[in-house]
Amino acid sequence: MEDIFSKVFDPVDFQRKGHALIDLLSEHITSVVNGKVKAIPWESPEKQLEFWKRDLNERQVTDPTCLFKNVMDRSVKLHSPKYFGHQTSVPAFDAVLAGLVSELLNNGMGVYEMGMAGNAIEKVVIDLVAHKMGFSNQAAGFITSGGSLGNLTALLAARAASSKVWTNGSRPEQDLAIMVSEQAHYSVYRAAKIIGLGEQGIIKVPVDDNHKIRCDLLEQIYSKQADAGVKVFCMIACAASTAIGAYDDIETIAKFCDRHDIWLHTDGAHGAAVVFSQKYKELVKGIEQSDSVLLDFHKMMMTPSLSTSLIFRSKESAMHTFSQQAHYLWNDQQADEWYNSGKRTFECTKAMSSLKIYTLLKMHGLELFSSYVEKTYALAREFAIFLNFENDFEIAHTPESNVLCFRYKKGNDLNQINNYIRQALLEDGEFYIVQTTLNENVYLRISLMNPLTEMSHLRGLVQKIRELANLR
Ligand SMILES: *Cc1c(COP(=O)(O)O)cnc(C)c1O
Repeated sequence: MEDIFSKVFDPVDFQRKGHALIDLLSEHITSVVNGKVKAIPWESPEKQLEFWKRDLNERQVTDPTCLFKNVMDRSVKLHSPKYFGHQTSVPAFDAVLAGLVSELLNNGMGVYEMGMAGNAIEKVVIDLVAHKMGFSNQAAGFITSGGSLGNLTALLAARAASSKVWTNGSRPEQDLAIMVSEQAHYSVYRAAKIIGLGEQGIIKVPVDDNHKIRCDLLEQIYSKQADAGVKVFCMIACAASTAIGAYDDIETIAKFCDRHDIWLHTDGAHGAAVVFSQKYKELVKGIEQSDSVLLDFHKMMMTPSLSTSLIFRSKESAMHTFSQQAHYLWNDQQADEWYNSGKRTFECTKAMSSLKIYTLLKMHGLELFSSYVEKTYALAREFAIFLNFENDFEIAHTPESNVLCFRYKKGNDLNQINNYIRQALLEDGEFYIVQTTLNENVYLRISLMNPLTEMSHLRGLVQKIRELANLR
Protein backbone atom coordinates (compact mmCIF):
# COMPACT_ATOMS: atom_id res chain seq x y z
CA MET A 1 0.00 0.00 0.00
CA GLU A 2 1.24 3.46 -0.88
CA ASP A 3 2.18 5.47 2.20
CA ILE A 4 -0.64 7.94 2.84
CA PHE A 5 1.73 10.67 3.97
CA SER A 6 3.92 10.61 0.91
CA LYS A 7 0.72 11.03 -1.07
CA VAL A 8 -0.62 13.90 1.04
CA PHE A 9 2.70 15.73 1.00
CA ASP A 10 3.76 15.13 -2.61
CA PRO A 11 5.02 18.48 -4.04
CA VAL A 12 4.71 17.30 -7.65
CA ASP A 13 1.09 16.39 -7.08
CA PHE A 14 0.56 19.81 -5.45
CA GLN A 15 1.95 21.54 -8.50
CA ARG A 16 -0.32 19.65 -10.88
CA LYS A 17 -3.47 20.21 -8.84
CA GLY A 18 -2.48 23.79 -8.09
CA HIS A 19 -2.23 24.64 -11.78
CA ALA A 20 -5.55 22.95 -12.45
CA LEU A 21 -7.14 24.89 -9.60
CA ILE A 22 -5.89 28.25 -10.86
CA ASP A 23 -7.28 27.40 -14.29
CA LEU A 24 -10.60 26.48 -12.76
CA LEU A 25 -10.77 29.61 -10.59
CA SER A 26 -9.84 31.85 -13.52
CA GLU A 27 -12.57 30.36 -15.70
CA HIS A 28 -15.03 30.77 -12.86
CA ILE A 29 -14.02 34.36 -12.23
CA THR A 30 -14.20 35.25 -15.91
CA SER A 31 -17.86 34.35 -16.16
CA VAL A 32 -18.67 35.82 -12.74
CA VAL A 33 -17.01 39.17 -13.44
CA ASN A 34 -19.01 39.44 -16.67
CA GLY A 35 -22.18 39.17 -14.62
CA LYS A 36 -23.23 36.06 -16.57
CA VAL A 37 -23.58 33.89 -13.50
CA LYS A 38 -26.21 34.39 -10.80
CA ALA A 39 -24.87 36.37 -7.85
CA ILE A 40 -26.47 33.86 -5.50
CA PRO A 41 -27.52 30.31 -6.38
CA TRP A 42 -30.10 30.20 -3.61
CA GLU A 43 -30.94 26.83 -2.10
CA SER A 44 -32.68 26.03 1.18
CA PRO A 45 -30.51 24.95 4.14
CA GLU A 46 -32.12 21.49 4.10
CA LYS A 47 -31.33 20.86 0.46
CA GLN A 48 -27.82 22.20 0.85
CA LEU A 49 -27.16 19.89 3.78
CA GLU A 50 -28.59 16.92 1.92
CA PHE A 51 -26.25 17.58 -1.00
CA TRP A 52 -23.11 17.61 1.16
CA LYS A 53 -24.15 14.62 3.23
CA ARG A 54 -24.64 12.63 0.07
CA ASP A 55 -21.42 13.99 -1.41
CA LEU A 56 -19.24 12.77 1.43
CA ASN A 57 -20.80 9.33 1.31
CA GLU A 58 -19.99 8.93 -2.35
CA ARG A 59 -16.66 7.43 -3.38
CA GLN A 60 -13.43 9.16 -2.45
CA VAL A 61 -11.72 11.20 -5.14
CA THR A 62 -8.08 11.62 -6.03
CA ASP A 63 -8.62 14.92 -7.80
CA PRO A 64 -10.35 17.76 -5.87
CA THR A 65 -11.37 19.71 -9.00
CA CYS A 66 -14.92 18.46 -9.01
CA LEU A 67 -15.31 19.15 -5.30
CA PHE A 68 -14.01 22.69 -5.68
CA LYS A 69 -16.30 23.26 -8.62
CA ASN A 70 -19.29 22.15 -6.58
CA VAL A 71 -18.36 24.62 -3.84
CA MET A 72 -18.01 27.45 -6.34
CA ASP A 73 -21.33 26.63 -7.97
CA ARG A 74 -23.04 26.61 -4.59
CA SER A 75 -21.60 29.84 -3.21
CA VAL A 76 -22.33 33.56 -3.42
CA LYS A 77 -20.35 35.26 -6.19
CA LEU A 78 -18.91 38.37 -4.62
CA HIS A 79 -17.04 39.19 -7.80
CA SER A 80 -20.29 39.57 -9.68
CA PRO A 81 -20.97 43.26 -10.38
CA LYS A 82 -24.53 42.41 -9.33
CA TYR A 83 -23.45 41.52 -5.79
CA PHE A 84 -24.67 44.25 -3.43
CA GLY A 85 -25.06 42.12 -0.32
CA HIS A 86 -23.30 42.12 3.03
CA GLN A 87 -20.25 44.24 3.72
CA THR A 88 -17.75 41.52 2.95
CA SER A 89 -14.84 42.45 0.74
CA VAL A 90 -14.62 41.43 -2.87
CA PRO A 91 -11.10 40.03 -2.63
CA ALA A 92 -8.46 41.38 -4.99
CA PHE A 93 -6.78 38.48 -6.77
CA ASP A 94 -3.30 39.42 -5.58
CA ALA A 95 -4.53 39.28 -1.99
CA VAL A 96 -6.01 35.85 -2.68
CA LEU A 97 -2.63 34.62 -3.90
CA ALA A 98 -0.99 36.07 -0.78
CA GLY A 99 -3.55 34.16 1.25
CA LEU A 100 -2.48 30.93 -0.37
CA VAL A 101 1.12 31.61 0.60
CA SER A 102 0.19 32.36 4.17
CA GLU A 103 -2.02 29.25 4.40
CA LEU A 104 0.76 27.05 3.14
CA LEU A 105 3.38 28.51 5.48
CA ASN A 106 0.94 28.52 8.40
CA ASN A 107 3.30 30.46 10.66
CA GLY A 108 1.38 30.83 13.90
CA MET A 109 2.33 34.45 14.69
CA GLY A 110 1.80 34.23 18.46
CA VAL A 111 5.48 34.32 19.22
CA TYR A 112 8.10 36.03 17.11
CA GLU A 113 9.90 32.83 16.15
CA MET A 114 6.70 31.35 14.75
CA GLY A 115 5.97 34.35 12.56
CA MET A 116 9.11 36.32 11.96
CA ALA A 117 8.22 37.79 8.58
CA GLY A 118 4.53 37.92 9.46
CA ASN A 119 4.99 39.88 12.68
CA ALA A 120 7.29 42.42 11.04
CA ILE A 121 4.95 42.79 8.05
CA GLU A 122 2.08 43.30 10.47
CA LYS A 123 3.89 46.11 12.24
CA VAL A 124 4.71 47.84 8.96
CA VAL A 125 1.06 47.68 7.90
CA ILE A 126 -0.29 48.79 11.27
CA ASP A 127 2.13 51.72 11.48
CA LEU A 128 1.07 52.84 8.04
CA VAL A 129 -2.64 52.64 8.85
CA ALA A 130 -2.09 54.45 12.17
CA HIS A 131 -0.20 57.18 10.35
CA LYS A 132 -2.99 57.58 7.77
CA MET A 133 -5.46 57.89 10.64
CA GLY A 134 -3.39 60.76 11.98
CA PHE A 135 -1.98 59.07 15.09
CA SER A 136 1.46 59.98 16.44
CA ASN A 137 4.26 57.43 16.67
CA GLN A 138 3.07 56.68 20.20
CA ALA A 139 0.32 54.61 18.60
CA ALA A 140 0.53 50.85 18.23
CA GLY A 141 -1.75 48.05 17.30
CA PHE A 142 -2.13 44.65 15.75
CA ILE A 143 -4.18 42.56 13.39
CA THR A 144 -6.82 40.33 14.89
CA SER A 145 -9.40 37.87 13.61
CA GLY A 146 -12.39 40.02 12.80
CA GLY A 147 -14.20 43.13 13.93
CA SER A 148 -16.22 41.28 16.55
CA LEU A 149 -13.09 40.09 18.30
CA GLY A 150 -11.55 43.52 17.76
CA ASN A 151 -14.47 45.25 19.48
CA LEU A 152 -14.23 42.82 22.38
CA THR A 153 -10.49 43.46 22.67
CA ALA A 154 -11.03 47.23 22.61
CA LEU A 155 -13.63 47.03 25.37
CA LEU A 156 -11.26 44.93 27.46
CA ALA A 157 -8.49 47.47 26.92
CA ALA A 158 -10.84 50.30 27.87
CA ARG A 159 -11.85 48.51 31.03
CA ALA A 160 -8.26 47.66 31.92
CA ALA A 161 -7.48 51.38 31.73
CA SER A 162 -10.05 52.27 34.38
CA SER A 163 -10.70 49.23 36.56
CA LYS A 164 -8.97 46.22 38.07
CA VAL A 165 -11.55 43.64 37.02
CA TRP A 166 -8.96 41.80 34.92
CA THR A 167 -6.91 41.06 38.04
CA ASN A 168 -9.51 41.05 40.80
CA GLY A 169 -12.36 39.31 39.01
CA SER A 170 -15.88 40.57 38.53
CA ARG A 171 -16.10 42.68 41.66
CA PRO A 172 -15.55 46.14 40.20
CA GLU A 173 -14.91 49.01 42.57
CA GLN A 174 -17.92 50.69 41.02
CA ASP A 175 -20.71 49.72 38.59
CA LEU A 176 -19.34 50.03 35.10
CA ALA A 177 -21.07 51.05 31.89
CA ILE A 178 -20.41 51.98 28.29
CA MET A 179 -22.22 54.55 26.16
CA VAL A 180 -22.95 53.48 22.63
CA SER A 181 -25.12 54.47 19.70
CA GLU A 182 -28.38 52.60 19.45
CA GLN A 183 -27.30 51.95 15.85
CA ALA A 184 -24.04 50.20 16.74
CA HIS A 185 -23.11 46.82 15.33
CA TYR A 186 -24.45 43.89 17.34
CA SER A 187 -20.91 42.73 18.10
CA VAL A 188 -20.47 45.76 20.36
CA TYR A 189 -23.45 44.78 22.52
CA ARG A 190 -22.28 41.18 22.51
CA ALA A 191 -18.78 42.20 23.62
CA ALA A 192 -20.29 44.30 26.41
CA LYS A 193 -22.28 41.26 27.55
CA ILE A 194 -19.22 39.04 27.41
CA ILE A 195 -17.27 41.35 29.68
CA GLY A 196 -20.15 41.22 32.12
CA LEU A 197 -21.74 44.65 31.80
CA GLY A 198 -25.26 43.26 31.43
CA GLU A 199 -28.20 45.25 30.05
CA GLN A 200 -27.82 48.01 32.57
CA GLY A 201 -24.18 48.51 31.70
CA ILE A 202 -25.01 49.29 28.08
CA ILE A 203 -26.29 52.85 27.83
CA LYS A 204 -27.77 53.33 24.38
CA VAL A 205 -27.59 56.85 23.06
CA PRO A 206 -30.43 57.78 20.70
CA VAL A 207 -29.67 58.85 17.13
CA ASP A 208 -30.99 61.81 15.15
CA ASP A 209 -32.85 61.75 11.82
CA ASN A 210 -29.56 61.09 10.06
CA HIS A 211 -28.92 58.06 12.29
CA LYS A 212 -25.99 59.73 14.06
CA ILE A 213 -25.44 59.77 17.81
CA ARG A 214 -27.25 62.72 19.37
CA CYS A 215 -24.29 64.60 20.79
CA ASP A 216 -26.62 67.11 22.43
CA LEU A 217 -27.70 64.36 24.84
CA LEU A 218 -24.26 63.08 25.88
CA GLU A 219 -23.76 65.27 28.98
CA GLN A 220 -27.25 64.65 30.26
CA ILE A 221 -26.99 60.87 29.85
CA TYR A 222 -23.57 60.83 31.44
CA SER A 223 -24.65 62.92 34.46
CA LYS A 224 -27.56 60.61 35.13
CA GLN A 225 -25.18 57.66 35.30
CA ALA A 226 -22.60 59.54 37.36
CA ASP A 227 -25.29 60.63 39.85
CA ALA A 228 -26.31 57.00 40.25
CA GLY A 229 -22.70 56.09 41.02
CA VAL A 230 -22.09 54.38 37.69
CA LYS A 231 -18.73 54.83 36.02
CA VAL A 232 -18.97 55.20 32.24
CA PHE A 233 -15.55 53.98 31.16
CA CYS A 234 -15.98 53.73 27.40
CA MET A 235 -17.93 55.31 24.60
CA ILE A 236 -18.19 53.81 21.13
CA ALA A 237 -18.52 55.91 18.00
CA CYS A 238 -19.70 54.36 14.74
CA ALA A 239 -17.72 54.96 11.55
CA ALA A 240 -19.98 54.03 10.04
CA SER A 241 -23.18 52.59 11.52
CA THR A 242 -24.17 49.19 10.22
CA ALA A 243 -27.74 49.66 9.00
CA ILE A 244 -27.31 52.75 6.83
CA GLY A 245 -23.61 53.58 6.99
CA ALA A 246 -23.89 56.87 8.90
CA TYR A 247 -20.81 58.44 10.49
CA ASP A 248 -21.01 59.72 14.07
CA ASP A 249 -19.48 63.10 14.89
CA ILE A 250 -16.20 61.77 16.27
CA GLU A 251 -14.73 65.19 16.98
CA THR A 252 -17.57 66.23 19.28
CA ILE A 253 -17.72 62.82 20.93
CA ALA A 254 -13.95 62.97 21.53
CA LYS A 255 -14.32 66.30 23.36
CA PHE A 256 -17.03 64.82 25.55
CA CYS A 257 -14.89 61.75 26.32
CA ASP A 258 -11.89 63.90 27.09
CA ARG A 259 -13.88 65.99 29.60
CA HIS A 260 -14.88 62.92 31.59
CA ASP A 261 -11.83 60.74 31.07
CA ILE A 262 -13.81 58.19 29.06
CA TRP A 263 -12.08 55.83 26.63
CA LEU A 264 -13.21 56.54 23.09
CA HIS A 265 -13.38 53.53 20.82
CA THR A 266 -14.21 54.17 17.17
CA ASP A 267 -15.76 51.18 15.44
CA GLY A 268 -14.55 51.86 11.93
CA ALA A 269 -14.83 48.24 10.79
CA HIS A 270 -16.47 49.32 7.57
CA GLY A 271 -16.00 53.02 7.17
CA ALA A 272 -12.61 53.97 8.65
CA ALA A 273 -11.15 53.11 5.23
CA VAL A 274 -12.04 56.68 4.22
CA VAL A 275 -8.78 57.77 5.89
CA PHE A 276 -7.16 56.76 2.58
CA SER A 277 -9.27 59.19 0.58
CA GLN A 278 -8.59 62.95 0.45
CA LYS A 279 -12.16 63.40 -0.63
CA TYR A 280 -13.94 61.47 2.11
CA LYS A 281 -11.61 61.54 5.12
CA GLU A 282 -13.59 64.49 6.54
CA LEU A 283 -16.19 61.89 7.51
CA VAL A 284 -13.90 60.66 10.31
CA LYS A 285 -12.54 64.03 11.39
CA GLY A 286 -11.07 63.67 14.87
CA ILE A 287 -10.49 59.91 14.56
CA GLU A 288 -6.93 60.35 15.86
CA GLN A 289 -8.39 61.44 19.20
CA SER A 290 -9.84 57.97 19.73
CA ASP A 291 -8.13 55.74 22.25
CA SER A 292 -8.72 52.82 19.94
CA VAL A 293 -9.90 52.41 16.35
CA LEU A 294 -10.96 49.30 14.55
CA LEU A 295 -10.74 48.83 10.79
CA ASP A 296 -11.56 45.61 8.94
CA PHE A 297 -9.30 44.95 5.98
CA HIS A 298 -11.85 42.35 4.91
CA LYS A 299 -14.61 44.91 4.47
CA MET A 300 -13.47 47.90 2.44
CA MET A 301 -9.91 46.93 1.61
CA MET A 302 -10.32 44.00 -0.73
CA THR A 303 -8.58 41.39 1.40
CA PRO A 304 -10.10 37.98 2.13
CA SER A 305 -11.52 37.42 5.62
CA LEU A 306 -10.58 37.65 8.41
CA SER A 307 -8.21 40.53 8.85
CA THR A 308 -8.91 43.38 11.25
CA SER A 309 -6.59 46.08 12.48
CA LEU A 310 -7.01 47.44 15.98
CA ILE A 311 -5.01 50.58 16.65
CA PHE A 312 -4.39 52.17 20.04
CA ARG A 313 -3.43 55.78 20.55
CA SER A 314 -0.98 54.69 23.23
CA LYS A 315 1.40 51.74 23.02
CA GLU A 316 0.93 50.92 26.71
CA SER A 317 -2.81 50.34 26.32
CA ALA A 318 -2.15 47.91 23.51
CA MET A 319 0.14 45.90 25.79
CA HIS A 320 -1.83 45.64 29.00
CA THR A 321 -5.17 44.31 27.83
CA PHE A 322 -4.31 40.67 28.30
CA SER A 323 -1.48 40.97 30.80
CA GLN A 324 -0.68 37.41 31.76
CA GLN A 325 2.21 35.07 32.40
CA ALA A 326 2.92 32.35 29.88
CA HIS A 327 6.44 31.26 30.58
CA TYR A 328 6.57 28.58 27.94
CA LEU A 329 5.92 31.25 25.32
CA TRP A 330 7.56 34.41 26.59
CA ASN A 331 10.10 35.18 29.27
CA ASP A 332 9.32 38.73 30.23
CA GLN A 333 5.64 39.53 29.92
CA GLN A 334 5.86 43.25 30.55
CA ALA A 335 8.44 44.17 27.93
CA ASP A 336 7.25 46.57 25.28
CA GLU A 337 7.75 44.48 22.22
CA TRP A 338 5.81 44.45 18.99
CA TYR A 339 7.10 41.14 17.76
CA ASN A 340 5.43 38.66 20.12
CA SER A 341 1.94 39.35 18.89
CA GLY A 342 0.24 36.82 21.19
CA LYS A 343 0.85 39.07 24.17
CA ARG A 344 -1.53 41.64 22.83
CA THR A 345 -4.11 39.62 20.93
CA PHE A 346 -6.84 37.28 22.06
CA GLU A 347 -5.53 34.62 19.70
CA CYS A 348 -2.63 32.31 20.41
CA THR A 349 -2.21 30.79 16.95
CA LYS A 350 -3.11 33.51 14.47
CA ALA A 351 -3.21 33.50 10.68
CA MET A 352 -0.55 35.54 8.90
CA SER A 353 -3.23 37.72 7.36
CA SER A 354 -1.01 40.80 7.24
CA LEU A 355 0.57 39.45 4.05
CA LYS A 356 -2.66 39.96 2.11
CA ILE A 357 -2.93 43.68 2.74
CA TYR A 358 0.84 44.11 2.49
CA THR A 359 0.82 42.49 -0.95
CA LEU A 360 -1.82 44.94 -2.17
CA LEU A 361 0.19 47.86 -0.78
CA LYS A 362 3.42 46.62 -2.30
CA MET A 363 1.87 46.04 -5.70
CA HIS A 364 -0.65 48.85 -6.03
CA GLY A 365 0.13 51.42 -3.36
CA LEU A 366 -2.31 53.44 -1.27
CA GLU A 367 -3.98 54.71 -4.39
CA LEU A 368 -5.83 51.42 -4.70
CA PHE A 369 -7.66 52.11 -1.45
CA SER A 370 -8.46 55.75 -2.15
CA SER A 371 -9.78 54.81 -5.60
CA TYR A 372 -11.86 52.03 -4.10
CA VAL A 373 -13.50 54.22 -1.47
CA GLU A 374 -14.09 57.04 -3.93
CA LYS A 375 -15.61 54.84 -6.60
CA THR A 376 -17.98 52.93 -4.32
CA TYR A 377 -19.01 55.98 -2.26
CA ALA A 378 -19.67 58.09 -5.35
CA LEU A 379 -21.75 55.33 -6.92
CA ALA A 380 -24.03 55.14 -3.86
CA ARG A 381 -24.61 58.90 -4.15
CA GLU A 382 -25.34 58.63 -7.85
CA PHE A 383 -27.78 55.77 -7.33
CA ALA A 384 -29.58 57.67 -4.56
CA ILE A 385 -30.07 60.62 -6.92
CA PHE A 386 -31.28 58.26 -9.63
CA LEU A 387 -33.86 56.70 -7.29
CA ASN A 388 -35.08 60.13 -6.23
CA PHE A 389 -36.29 60.66 -9.77
CA GLU A 390 -38.17 57.33 -9.95
CA ASN A 391 -41.68 57.75 -8.60
CA ASP A 392 -42.09 54.11 -7.54
CA PHE A 393 -39.02 54.15 -5.26
CA GLU A 394 -37.88 56.12 -2.23
CA ILE A 395 -34.60 56.28 -0.37
CA ALA A 396 -34.39 56.06 3.41
CA HIS A 397 -31.44 58.40 3.74
CA THR A 398 -28.83 60.32 1.82
CA PRO A 399 -25.84 57.96 1.68
CA GLU A 400 -22.65 58.97 3.44
CA SER A 401 -20.90 55.72 2.58
CA ASN A 402 -21.47 52.98 0.00
CA VAL A 403 -24.51 51.65 1.88
CA LEU A 404 -27.96 52.68 0.74
CA CYS A 405 -31.40 51.69 2.03
CA PHE A 406 -34.41 52.26 -0.19
CA ARG A 407 -37.78 50.73 -0.88
CA TYR A 408 -40.36 50.15 -3.55
CA LYS A 409 -43.30 52.34 -2.72
CA LYS A 410 -46.18 51.25 -4.95
CA GLY A 411 -48.93 49.40 -3.11
CA ASN A 412 -50.70 49.36 0.22
CA ASP A 413 -48.64 47.31 2.65
CA LEU A 414 -45.10 48.46 1.85
CA ASN A 415 -43.46 46.23 4.46
CA GLN A 416 -45.07 43.17 2.99
CA ILE A 417 -44.23 44.22 -0.56
CA ASN A 418 -40.58 44.91 0.23
CA ASN A 419 -40.24 41.68 2.18
CA TYR A 420 -41.68 39.91 -0.80
CA ILE A 421 -39.31 41.66 -3.20
CA ARG A 422 -36.24 40.79 -1.20
CA GLN A 423 -37.25 37.11 -0.96
CA ALA A 424 -38.09 37.01 -4.67
CA LEU A 425 -34.70 38.56 -5.49
CA LEU A 426 -32.97 35.95 -3.36
CA GLU A 427 -34.74 33.10 -5.09
CA ASP A 428 -34.13 34.62 -8.51
CA GLY A 429 -30.44 35.01 -7.73
CA GLU A 430 -29.34 37.38 -10.49
CA PHE A 431 -28.72 40.13 -7.93
CA TYR A 432 -27.85 39.77 -4.27
CA ILE A 433 -29.08 42.40 -1.84
CA VAL A 434 -30.18 42.30 1.80
CA GLN A 435 -32.82 44.11 3.81
CA THR A 436 -33.12 46.02 7.03
CA THR A 437 -35.79 47.58 9.21
CA LEU A 438 -35.67 51.26 10.11
CA ASN A 439 -38.35 52.74 12.37
CA GLU A 440 -40.40 49.61 11.76
CA ASN A 441 -40.26 50.06 7.99
CA VAL A 442 -38.74 47.35 5.84
CA TYR A 443 -36.09 48.61 3.43
CA LEU A 444 -33.99 46.99 0.76
CA ARG A 445 -30.34 47.50 1.58
CA ILE A 446 -27.34 47.49 -0.71
CA SER A 447 -23.62 47.78 0.02
CA LEU A 448 -21.66 48.63 -3.10
CA MET A 449 -18.67 46.44 -2.34
CA ASN A 450 -17.70 45.54 -5.87
CA PRO A 451 -15.65 48.23 -7.61
CA LEU A 452 -16.72 46.75 -10.96
CA THR A 453 -20.35 47.64 -10.30
CA GLU A 454 -21.63 50.48 -12.51
CA MET A 455 -24.90 52.41 -12.74
CA SER A 456 -26.02 50.04 -15.51
CA HIS A 457 -26.07 47.15 -13.02
CA LEU A 458 -28.04 49.23 -10.54
CA ARG A 459 -30.53 50.25 -13.20
CA GLY A 460 -30.86 46.54 -13.95
CA LEU A 461 -31.70 45.92 -10.30
CA VAL A 462 -34.42 48.57 -10.38
CA GLN A 463 -35.88 46.97 -13.49
CA LYS A 464 -35.78 43.54 -11.87
CA ILE A 465 -37.53 44.82 -8.75
CA ARG A 466 -40.32 46.28 -10.89
CA GLU A 467 -40.74 42.99 -12.73
CA LEU A 468 -40.89 41.00 -9.50
CA ALA A 469 -43.31 43.47 -7.90
CA ASN A 470 -45.59 43.20 -10.93
CA LEU A 471 -45.59 39.40 -10.75
CA ARG A 472 -47.03 39.37 -7.26
C1 LIG B 1 -18.78 44.17 10.18
C2 LIG B 1 -18.78 45.03 11.35
C3 LIG B 1 -18.37 44.54 12.60
C4 LIG B 1 -18.02 43.10 12.82
O1 LIG B 1 -16.87 42.76 12.13
P1 LIG B 1 -16.56 41.23 11.72
O2 LIG B 1 -15.24 41.34 11.09
O3 LIG B 1 -17.66 40.83 10.78
O4 LIG B 1 -16.56 40.41 12.97
C5 LIG B 1 -18.32 45.43 13.65
N1 LIG B 1 -18.68 46.71 13.50
C6 LIG B 1 -19.08 47.22 12.31
C7 LIG B 1 -19.45 48.67 12.23
C8 LIG B 1 -19.14 46.40 11.19
O5 LIG B 1 -19.52 46.92 10.01
